[in-house]
Amino acid sequence: MNVAVRKRRKNSLSSPPPLAGEVDARSAAGGGSFAQSEEEYAPSLTLPRRRGRGRTERVATPSPDPADLLAWYDRHRRALPWRARGRAKADPYAVWLSEIMLQQTTVKTVGPYYAKFLAKWPTVDALAKAPLDDVLRAWAGLGYYARARNLHACARTVVERHNGIFPDNIEALRALPGIGDYTAAAVGSIAFDLPAVPVDGNVERVVTRLYAVDEAMPAAKPEIKRLAASLLPPHRSGDFAQAFMDLGATICSPTKPACSLCPWSEPCIARVRGDQETFPRKAPKREGKQRYGAAFVALRADGQGSVDVLLRRRPEKGLLGAMTEVPGSDWAHDFDRKSALDAAPFKAKWRKLAGDVTHVFTHFPLRLTVYVADVPRGEAAPKGARWAKVSGLAGEALPTLMRKVLAHALD
Ligand code: SF4
Repeated sequence: MNVAVRKRRKNSLSSPPPLAGEVDARSAAGGGSFAQSEEEYAPSLTLPRRRGRGRTERVATPSPDPADLLAWYDRHRRALPWRARGRAKADPYAVWLSEIMLQQTTVKTVGPYYAKFLAKWPTVDALAKAPLDDVLRAWAGLGYYARARNLHACARTVVERHNGIFPDNIEALRALPGIGDYTAAAVGSIAFDLPAVPVDGNVERVVTRLYAVDEAMPAAKPEIKRLAASLLPPHRSGDFAQAFMDLGATICSPTKPACSLCPWSEPCIARVRGDQETFPRKAPKREGKQRYGAAFVALRADGQGSVDVLLRRRPEKGLLGAMTEVPGSDWAHDFDRKSALDAAPFKAKWRKLAGDVTHVFTHFPLRLTVYVADVPRGEAAPKGARWAKVSGLAGEALPTLMRKVLAHALD
């Protein structure tokens, strides 16, 4: 008998199985786990009825109890740099900063960036006063750069409209730049204990398994939100939100979930059926169409032993907005490589490098051909571009794609 079963609370056993926990189970998927289920659920729950090969069966489970998750969290919570310790109150600035950084990014990657931001700008007021370029530079490498621009705009808005204090209601949080439903719920619940459940990928995974949500993503999102909200306890909303996230991040992993350690092992329908890893259901993936382009790395010896490289700033709006790049062509499906040099910043002896630089954005893969030219010392930067020291590239707001291009050209 597993840990979850041993620690099962008596009142959970005595509750009648709810209709919401009844699902159709495929006998092929669930057959292996019914022997275990019989032992676990006897005598209080309705056992699955076998109806013969290829036919469906009913599986009854108790409702997930939020108290079980909170008790688990009290013992196993992750120590994260932005998380308040013990019963201390969370800092809304720290919560907001971490939540923006964690979107589409792992905890491990975010750690050093979070520390750097907090050391440079310890308050929302300090961040609001920083030049956008400094913020973009500090953000470089985290990806999804619109988040950095919104981060800065949000800090300014909090200072200008709310006297530097994050508002403590969901609607006002939702009205801030870069804050959507998820972030408003995360900041609201974690920082202010507001009754909201932030539903991220981890929570989606747990909920779809708990309830065996058959609808594919992303169409299932409203149902997942509804089910997650139905679990919200009357107190400790912030801890509940973080517990939900921790469960998905540490126990209910995409593959090989550690169900024997899960506080919701008993009510989890997917565990009973044995098909946990098939959730969340995925719609067939539609690959973005491949795009192509050219990037131009112009190098100029400065006469004092160091080398400059030509850089420019991308347009404010759009992909990688306001980030730094080397000059290049547009990126298109039907990019004509024969006329690539038309996009060069000036006439020079451009050498095409062997091997392209590839990069995958969320909605399309990109392949860039890289050209390099050594230009005379007096060569002026064309309008909109500037010369920057190669030795200082680490401090430039270069997105990962451009770092790849420069590494390819300078290696
Ligand atoms: S029992 Fe397993 S699949 Fe179900 S929520 Fe827990 S870890 Fe996830």
